[in-house]
Amino acid sequence: MAFKLPDLPYALDALNPYISKQTLEFHHGKHHLTYINNLNKQIEGTKFEQATLETMIQEAEGGIFNNAAQTFNHTFYFESFSPKPKKTPEGKLAEALRRDFGNVEKFVEAFTQGATALFGSGWAWLAADKSGKLCLKMLSNAGNPLREGLLPLLTCDVWEHAYYLDCQNRRADYIKNFWQVLDWSVVEKRYAAL
Ligand code: MN
Repeated sequence: MAFKLPDLPYALDALNPYISKQTLEFHHGKHHLTYINNLNKQIEGTKFEQATLETMIQEAEGGIFNNAAQTFNHTFYFESFSPKPKKTPEGKLAEALRRDFGNVEKFVEAFTQGATALFGSGWAWLAADKSGKLCLKMLSNAGNPLREGLLPLLTCDVWEHAYYLDCQNRRADYIKNFWQVLDWSVVEKRYAAL
C-alpha cells in the first residue's frame, strides 16, 4: 500500500500571517512529501508493506519508524489548524484539561513551556491514556505517544523547518502563532473518539 500526501484542509495562504504560504509550501509540499516517499521506498518488500502507520509507529525501528511517524505526525499537525479556529476548548475535553492541569490556561502554559524547551528537533504532544487521563509528552525527533501506548490528541512540530522561514530561530514566536490557528474543535473530536 503506497501512502499519499494528504491535501491540506485549507488553502496554502489561509493561515497567514501565523503560518505563511511559503512555510506551508515547504513544510507540506516538500518535507511531509519526502517522509512519505521515503516510507514508501523503505517498506517495499518488508513485513510492513501492508501495515498501517499506527502499527509501524508501535513496532518498527530505524528508518521505517522514523518515516512512518513523521508521515503520521505531519498529517495530525496540519489537520489541527483552521483559518477560523475554535479558540477555546469546551465540554469533556475542557473538563479533562481542568482536572489534569488545573485549568485551560495552565495547560497552554505547560505545553508552551515544554515545546519551547524541547532540545533539538521533536514534537510536543498532549496525549491521553486509555482511561482518558491527559498528559504532556515532549518527544525528540519523530517521537509519537502511540509508541508508549498513549493516544495522541494535539501536537506541535518544533523541528526548525516548521518555523524557520517565518520566525527564523525564534521558536517561542512560532508557538505563539501556533495557538492562534489551532482549532480546538479538532482536539475535542479526537478526545470524544477515545
Ligand atoms: Mn515538520
